[in-house]
Amino acid sequence: MRKRLIVAASAAVLVSALAGASPVVAASDEKSERRGDAADGAALDVTRVSVEQKLHEVTLRAGFATGAADALAAAGEGSSVCFKFMRDGRTLEICAVTRSGALRATRGGRTIAAEVKTSGDELVLRARESKLKLRPGVYRWTVLATAGVCDAALSTVPCTDVAPDAGAYEVRVWRVALAGCEAKGPLEVRRGPRKKKIALTFDDGPSSYTNSLLHTLDKHDARATFFMLGSQLGGKGPAMRRELAAGHELANHGWSHYPMGGGGPRATAELQRTQRAIRDATGFTPCAFRPPYGDTGPDLRRRARDLGLTSFIWSVDPRDWATPGTGSIVGNVLANTGPGAIILMHDGGGNRSQTLAAVPQILSSLKRRGYKFVTISELMKYERRFALVR
Ligand code: ZN
Repeated sequence: MRKRLIVAASAAVLVSALAGASPVVAASDEKSERRGDAADGAALDVTRVSVEQKLHEVTLRAGFATGAADALAAAGEGSSVCFKFMRDGRTLEICAVTRSGALRATRGGRTIAAEVKTSGDELVLRARESKLKLRPGVYRWTVLATAGVCDAALSTVPCTDVAPDAGAYEVRVWRVALAGCEAKGPLEVRRGPRKKKIALTFDDGPSSYTNSLLHTLDKHDARATFFMLGSQLGGKGPAMRRELAAGHELANHGWSHYPMGGGGPRATAELQRTQRAIRDATGFTPCAFRPPYGDTGPDLRRRARDLGLTSFIWSVDPRDWATPGTGSIVGNVLANTGPGAIILMHDGGGNRSQTLAAVPQILSSLKRRGYKFVTISELMKYERRFALVR
């Protein structure tokens, strides 16, 4: 059973939650955890802290009882404000430290490339989540501010301040996922712009072969596009989400592999149902459609675009579905691929062991020729939308 729940918390926040193992998708791309801490007269007195995530960018803030720059200067050389993120018995310490009068960011004691500055009564540290090494999931966190020049035995005020005073805050670091792409330009495409970019496309999956294919693509740092049949997506949510998380693109191949070149309302129904199945399982709404058998026509193209889809045929077809032998598949692709190629292969619909064996050879050879493997919407320079996903 799949239940769809839409909560509009405010104009900016729209959360659609799916029951069971499905992800929670936040249409809003910003999440913030702000916490207060009582002023207690410490040398570096932290009064509020926050962790904010805007897609890949994470901002850590510490507010002081007085101006941040003055407070840090008064606290002396070597003063630090450290955010400690704790999970599974491990602590990740991200700090802003004053050295020679300048602020720098450190992670585990080592300087990292992050923006760190004071602004009014706030200290702000900002970096990509990968730089900070914050992984998606829930962390417990605290903030420790330590004055650099302060003798605990002599000082009339505490040399350190911790927020919160007891226990820890909690924050979820969200995974950034592709939420959609915007079709534009020609309604039908057989080949991309003549750049050194190639779109590998795989139809009729996911299947038991898909995992191994994902491993190969990842090893070669290649992104691909997966055209899926709606009728086969039951129970395939985890595989689809794996594809998306690895940077690949999901796309529409109709519902039942019915030849839709004639168009008509059935074509719309096939496309619409498949769009919904992909979106419900992954939170991603495709902008690419491949007509089964390449069977196309003007009414179909129009109907596809009305649903936000471009029809993608191909420029290279090694006929891997007919299992002509691994060598034949590799030879065909290498002989026919040029700039902007759209290569048709299959990761479902039958025994795909020849395709699987061919892909690493294809990737190595084309990479040597200077090609980059991109998703279909990257090839076409379509706008892409991202969202934070649990
Ligand atoms: Zn197909």
